[in-house]
Amino acid sequence: MNARARDDAEETRVLVVEDDRGIAESLVRGLRQAGYGAERVGTGRAALSAPTPDVVLLDLGLPDLDGVEVCRRLRARSDAAIIAVTARGEEADRVLALDEGADDYLVKPFGLAELLARIRAVLRRRRPAGPEILRHGPLALDLRTRQVSVNGHGVALTPKEFGILECLVADPGRVVSRQQILERAWDAHWYGPTKVLDVHLAALRRKLGVPGLIETVYGQGFRLGTVQEPRERP
Ligand code: CA
Repeated sequence: MNARARDDAEETRVLVVEDDRGIAESLVRGLRQAGYGAERVGTGRAALSAPTPDVVLLDLGLPDLDGVEVCRRLRARSDAAIIAVTARGEEADRVLALDEGADDYLVKPFGLAELLARIRAVLRRRRPAGPEILRHGPLALDLRTRQVSVNGHGVALTPKEFGILECLVADPGRVVSRQQILERAWDAHWYGPTKVLDVHLAALRRKLGVPGLIETVYGQGFRLGTVQEPRERP
């Protein structure tokens, strides 16, 4: 994570509402490693009586209260950003949660990079701040203006190409699966062939013009590779 995003993260408190202790603990650990303040509660009642955080990650399947009802009551009492979490197939609950004021949703299972990207996105929508720039080697992504540069030279990308790159730069070095990229850069409900991704990736690699920047990890997905620092161009 770049310095600017980390500074933002340090002021941000995330409440993880999740009754599955294993999932909750790994989420809290990952969020803290990314620099967020993170706490976990395991019930809807505890979520409603917790100090108001900046972001609530709300599992809709809770043991005591209906998750959608918890979402509605959280929205009524605070302006925290709410990201609803559901299992696959619970589309009706996702729609209800969005109607009751959730800002976004995630479908289990999801990776930490996707969660961090969603948190940054909801925070960006809530408090439009200065530019947030992600950097990796010669690459810089301005998440606010959605402009990309390589060695300081602007590169014009399509929204899909930008989305793919954003997934990868969000957590450089981590392998991001084809499905995660499709869900993030296309639509959370992409059911089409993943072959379409290859076409956009080929165009993206060509436009960036940095060999080795986007690595294919066979059978797993893609990640950003270690590349040379910016060098002077003649
Ligand atoms: Ca649950």
